Amino acid sequence: MPSTNLLQRSLEAVWHPCTQMKQHERFPLVPLERGTGLWLYDTNGRRYFDAVSSWWVNLFGHCNPRINAALQRQLGTLEHAMLAGFTHRPVVELSERLGALSASLGGERLGHAFYASDGASATEIALKMSAHYWRNNGQPAKNRFVCLAGSYHGETAGALSVTDISLFRDAYAPLVRQSETVPSPACGAADQRTESARRAADALDAWLTQHADTTAALIVEPLVQCATGMAMYDPEYLRRARAACDRHKVHLIADEIAVGCGRTGTFFACEQASIRPDFLCLSKGISGGYLPLSIVLTSDAVYRAFYDDATARGFLHSHSYTGNPLACTAALATLDIFESDKVLETNRQRADALTRIAAPIAHDGRVRDFRRTGMIWAFEVDTADPHFARKVFAAGLEAEVLLRPIGNTVYWMPPYIFDDADAAFLVERTGNAIDTALAS
Ligand SMILES: *Cc1c(COP(=O)(O)O)cnc(C)c1O
Repeated sequence: MPSTNLLQRSLEAVWHPCTQMKQHERFPLVPLERGTGLWLYDTNGRRYFDAVSSWWVNLFGHCNPRINAALQRQLGTLEHAMLAGFTHRPVVELSERLGALSASLGGERLGHAFYASDGASATEIALKMSAHYWRNNGQPAKNRFVCLAGSYHGETAGALSVTDISLFRDAYAPLVRQSETVPSPACGAADQRTESARRAADALDAWLTQHADTTAALIVEPLVQCATGMAMYDPEYLRRARAACDRHKVHLIADEIAVGCGRTGTFFACEQASIRPDFLCLSKGISGGYLPLSIVLTSDAVYRAFYDDATARGFLHSHSYTGNPLACTAALATLDIFESDKVLETNRQRADALTRIAAPIAHDGRVRDFRRTGMIWAFEVDTADPHFARKVFAAGLEAEVLLRPIGNTVYWMPPYIFDDADAAFLVERTGNAIDTALAS
């Protein structure tokens, strides 16, 4: 008989993600009842400021009335149908609008959209499409990939092959065809970022000079390598990497799963380098944090390499929920909010305000490398305590703020709806949580 206690039932029946389940003997799960705006509420009526946008997905708050209304309308129209052989308004409109937005990258649009459900699937699709492009192009030896040190592109076997975080990868190493890593351009000290970008780009160029014949693509997280600890870098790297990929005839895959949708201050992070990747992966924020949706945008040149009388030259990849109308509707409502609320503009004011209000943390003697790109803030806390992250998480919940540090890196990636009072609350309670964690 299942226990009537929700926490106990969850521990018995639900295998939670990214979790050593035994740790829940000491750290209880938080049983959520509902969410609204910046806040999550648990079944005991306690509230939590969602400072990490629920793993970087939520853009306009929980239970956003406009996204809810759009979904309710779509629910009465078409909930789902297969996308092979069929099409529908939400998927067409979303593809057209993303293609139009890609004009901001300069040059020809990324006018062809391929759909899946999760970020890792988008990575898989981009890798497969790139290698298959070269095969269709008579260069089947170009089937390897290169990624940055500290990269994260998801956790399915193909995505792990371009993920350089040993904690996620080591247990599965025998299953994975590991890609080569080249140095990351990221660098803590903001004044050394340009130099660091140049050095890393030189290393990439040297590597490609040796290996372009067997390399299909370089995959990068533009501007911020989030999962490795919000490692930020100069757009100069992307400019040079694009040029190197062009010189050596290698694709550039921009994984904007975390950094897309305005997170770095522009709709696409690549805009800040004025470069157009060959493949651009979106997920996380694109559905407003509502439904699993991922998209790979690509160019005419790639699309045309698959367009043929021979079936096998086509891209025969699929997922059951490809192009789900509800998920596409949530994405369309999300894009509507970007337009009608001039989100990128108002975010600049929000970002300035939070940065100003956070000055006491930035200047705290225990804090290093306080940094920001767009709507991502991060800093390192000096401590040798290996349990620091977990302690901040627990102390944060006590202080009504959801923080999930990565090692010693504390970060904020809040929804795009906070005002000055919310920012002051976030800064004060984060400070309290760090004090508590360091004192215990
Ligand atoms: C989260 C993330 C992914 C994986 O997305 P999932 O939806 O978790 O599979 C891939 N790349 C980056 C950069 C991410 O942050």
